[in-house]
Amino acid sequence: MANTIHDTDLIVIGGGPAGCAAARMAASVGMRSILIEPDILCRNLYRIAALDNVLGGYSSGPDLADTITAELKSTELCRLELGRRVTELRAGEDQVTVTLDTGDSHTALYAIVATGVGPSQPRDVSWITAPAGLTLPPLWQAEADDAEGRTLLVLGGDRPIGTFLRANPTIDTRLLVAYPAADDYKIEEIRVDPRVTFLPIEHLTWGPGEEPTVTAEVATRDGARHAVAADAVYVSIGNAPTAPSGDLTRGADGYCPPTDQHPRVIVAGDVRSARFQRIMTALGSGSEGALHAYYAASELLTKG
Ligand SMILES: Cc1cc2nc3c(=O)[nH]c(=O)nc-3n(C[C@H](O)[C@H](O)[C@H](O)COP(=O)(O)OP(=O)(O)OC[C@H]3O[C@@H](n4cnc5c(N)ncnc54)[C@H](O)[C@@H]3O)c2cc1C
Repeated sequence: MANTIHDTDLIVIGGGPAGCAAARMAASVGMRSILIEPDILCRNLYRIAALDNVLGGYSSGPDLADTITAELKSTELCRLELGRRVTELRAGEDQVTVTLDTGDSHTALYAIVATGVGPSQPRDVSWITAPAGLTLPPLWQAEADDAEGRTLLVLGGDRPIGTFLRANPTIDTRLLVAYPAADDYKIEEIRVDPRVTFLPIEHLTWGPGEEPTVTAEVATRDGARHAVAADAVYVSIGNAPTAPSGDLTRGADGYCPPTDQHPRVIVAGDVRSARFQRIMTALGSGSEGALHAYYAASELLTKG
């Protein structure tokens, strides 16, 4: 499979479950890969306290992440480049070229894009007015120690609120959840939790609070306006796909449909679509992506 004109056979962009599965499967069929990840491998899995939909006996994200990380580190055909981010992906007739934030670049026969999703921010929705550069942490990143005894303003009613409450069943925290009508159905699962105060709103205007207090003015759905104050603020608005710039085809929703890509670019995991965002689907699509590259490369070699 080795091809002397390329740095490697396969470049894997993103070290979550999809990217790790791709690199592991590639190695199993003799393909060399370079996996590029700005953080640690499977960083998101370390935030999942309880798992009930993954085969293999894993009941927590960190257990699964530790196993995957150990396996990847012992995969000789996969070179890990951690602490680096891909800034651009270019696809040509004979190869893909990936540029890193260090300025270095790599070429390969195929690239698998498995960059997942990131939290949507106030600038991504019309029901919040806030400074353009405002970037807030997602609620699922809140540490229990930081939240204990405090009031947290949560922008949006997306499901990770339930994850946070279930992961911290005894925490003494008050959540002020400000959410638009579109999120009404999502907050049903937390409706009975006494730690949540529901703020069904039309609009929220950020500020002008000063640290350590955050404030906002909300316009409720019955036309009233009032101020809210909290010790900290988090987003739970939803997710947006994170993919490098360059030769990736995005749909109207920002996701990268697998069937619309350049023949040398394969997408895997959460970045494919808002549907199927699960660990097992990420593992499966990453594995399939590697096999797709393997068979496509084998066909080329046979023809050549
Ligand atoms: C709070 C929470 C709870 C969840 N609970 C469950 C659950 O119980 N069960 C379940 O099945 N799923 C759960 N999920 C979903 C699951 O975590 C995802 O479906 C899965 O992690 C997707 O894997 P992925 O590899 O596609 O993406 P990710 O895990 O998001 O990995 C993508 C990786 O790409 C990297 N990356 C991003 N941009 C670049 C770039 N430019 N260059 C290089 N690398 C880049 C990121 O750093 C990241 O490590 C949960 C998610 C969250 C947030």
